Amino acid sequence: MKERVLTRRDLFAGAGCCAALAPFFTLAACGPEGVEDAFELRGRTMGTTYRLRARPPARSLDPLALHAEIGRLLRRVEARLSFWRRDSELARINTAAPGRWVEVSEETLRVVAAAQAQQRLSGGAFDPALGALVDLWGFGPSRAEHAVPTPESLEQVREPGAALAIETRTQPPAVRRRQRGTRVDLSAIAQGHAVDEVAALLAAYGVEDYLLDLGGELRAGGRPAADRPWRVAVERPRGTARVPLCVVRLDDAAIGTSGVYLKWFEQGGRRYSHILDPRSGRPIEHGLLSVSVLAEDALTADAAATTLLVLGPEEGACFAREHGLAALFAAEDGGDVRVSWTPSFDARVLPQEDPR
Ligand code: AMP
Ligand code: MG
Repeated sequence: MKERVLTRRDLFAGAGCCAALAPFFTLAACGPEGVEDAFELRGRTMGTTYRLRARPPARSLDPLALHAEIGRLLRRVEARLSFWRRDSELARINTAAPGRWVEVSEETLRVVAAAQAQQRLSGGAFDPALGALVDLWGFGPSRAEHAVPTPESLEQVREPGAALAIETRTQPPAVRRRQRGTRVDLSAIAQGHAVDEVAALLAAYGVEDYLLDLGGELRAGGRPAADRPWRVAVERPRGTARVPLCVVRLDDAAIGTSGVYLKWFEQGGRRYSHILDPRSGRPIEHGLLSVSVLAEDALTADAAATTLLVLGPEEGACFAREHGLAALFAAEDGGDVRVSWTPSFDARVLPQEDPR
């Protein structure tokens, strides 16, 4: 694995083409300039924003109609998968009596199944049955305040055998939780899934050259211009410097990021992040600040980024190697950020002075 420590000087040393989108986006696309005949669509969804830049397809396209369709699609995904909305399909699963099957859409079933597969693959580090714990730490819809929970309340929501906490059925599609305390939270992959759904819609509209960013989960198709690939900057995980850790090329690929700095609270001088380790029932405590993963689709990248961040610097690096993941790790290092990445990630990193 390649590794380098970025000093403050490196980080402030300017990086040419790369512009940030918004303060909380870890990943940002290189400036819109140079995207031939581009159109751009933006909107809000799932508590964040999305932005699409694309070249029009050969056949005629009404960007307004496409925008409306993307809006409908994202409202549909939210209505099914939101952990926050009381009327989502997920909320129906989470409030039904334990053991009772709740009929859901094929889409919800697919995302729940993908989350369960990731749970098995990760040995439980990724856990979609963690909703009650997420809530207890103040990162879910139920608690208004962030506070460290009492040991007693933590004991109450932690369940042995969480791998069996959620069951699925295909005909008709249905999901059930086994115990009253279990709450399904798909937030760690829902945005990646939404990005893939929009990508499929773009394909149906004949849009081949695009870059889509939904809350920091990105997916690109084709190229912004005939002579160059889409390039995206992996931003520094915290601080004010708008200087990227690196710039990667996205050739019909996705990149997802999970970061402790995105949601957190402070108590007694310590920071508690929204990324929870199911093994301890607590926010992660190792020094990793963020993980970015490149993959063919956004759901895979989103799930893998959260998984590696939970696993931490050593276990995460082993897992990435074992599973051939293209991953970047950014760790706290005495006020600086130490960056390391796997060989398959390295193959996509562009020299920052690359003029193309
Ligand atoms: P992401 O930004 O994709 O890493 O997703 C973070 C969100 O996933 C959190 O806000 C929680 O709702 C949820 N979450 C936290 N810890 C885990 C975990 N270990 N496995 C799965 N989901 C988690
Ligand atoms: Mg994720």
